Amino acid sequence: MPTPSPEATIRIAVVGLGKVARDQHVPALAADGRFALAATVSPGADGIDGVPHFASLDALLAQGPPLDAVALCTPPQVRHALAARAIAAGLHVLLEKPPGATVSEVRALTSEADRAGTTLFAAWHSRFAAAVALAGEWLRGRPIRSAAIVWREDVRQWHPGQDWIWEPGGLGVFDPGINALSIATAVLPGPVVLEGARLVVPLNRAAPIAAELDLRAAGGAPVTMDLDWRQTGTPTWDIRVETDDGPLVLSRGGSSLSRPDGSAEHFEDREYPALYARFHELIRRGESDVDLGPFQLVADAFLLGRRQPAEAFHD
Ligand code: NAP
Repeated sequence: MPTPSPEATIRIAVVGLGKVARDQHVPALAADGRFALAATVSPGADGIDGVPHFASLDALLAQGPPLDAVALCTPPQVRHALAARAIAAGLHVLLEKPPGATVSEVRALTSEADRAGTTLFAAWHSRFAAAVALAGEWLRGRPIRSAAIVWREDVRQWHPGQDWIWEPGGLGVFDPGINALSIATAVLPGPVVLEGARLVVPLNRAAPIAAELDLRAAGGAPVTMDLDWRQTGTPTWDIRVETDDGPLVLSRGGSSLSRPDGSAEHFEDREYPALYARFHELIRRGESDVDLGPFQLVADAFLLGRRQPAEAFHD
């Protein structure tokens, strides 16, 4: 595909008009003059006033307006087929996290995008939380002793009625947990390696409701991870890193940071505007960005994890 001129507007369709598309993608696109929301796709949901809406990607490609890109905001299990179809149509593709249902299918997409000359962006939105880059800068070059990730929230509050999340490929508690891994793999010395896992799986579900992971950062520092979907009330989305200079704590999902000297910073949520700025930059440069690191660690947890049954879960 020819690289667009810096001032060309990217005509984009949002595919999968569910919670994250409506809460984040559509507002971020509306606020970014470098993109124009050209269409939406969802099999069941209604569209958005004034934007052409289609029941399937095939219908959009056959009958819709001209496009440059798609943002795939569907559940992960259907994302590979949609991405392959979009790449074959010459479109740039943004993949919501996790980038697919298997590591191998995302690798295949990377090759397909390379061959087609389109941009493929596996978007890890939590990496764009404002304090993450600051934490990475502070930690760079500082030996770390250990790290502890605690990611606990109420599945009934954050994922009501999402049956796909409990199915194979839906990741269960790793759906939010992979956000923590996307931050940890960005700020800790890598590669980070999985050494052990315990997965707590409700008797009536295919995916875990809680998990504990033992990981190791480059240099040997142990990293523990505690994931739980049974915490009610305020969620805990914290990463604490012990260094020779004291602890660095990233909290509120990467939007707050406190340093050992007591200084702290808190930021508003700006993840998706920053994520689209990155997508625009990649398209303009004719590049792709597909970091499989966080997804591989989740796949490894499913490979190595000891399963422990838990009581049936009902919404
Ligand atoms: P969701 O509310 O269940 O929405 C998924 C949407 O995808 C639904 O509108 C569904 O359409 C649509 N869809 C399903 N199959 C499709 C297909 N073949 N073609 C087109 N559209 C299809 O899920 P979500 O919470 O938005 O999550 C979607 C993805 O975003 C997940 O990977 C999740 O991890 C990620 N994410 C979610 C959040 C969040 O806050 N929820 C935040 C960041 C990232 P119908 O309803 O019409 O069937």
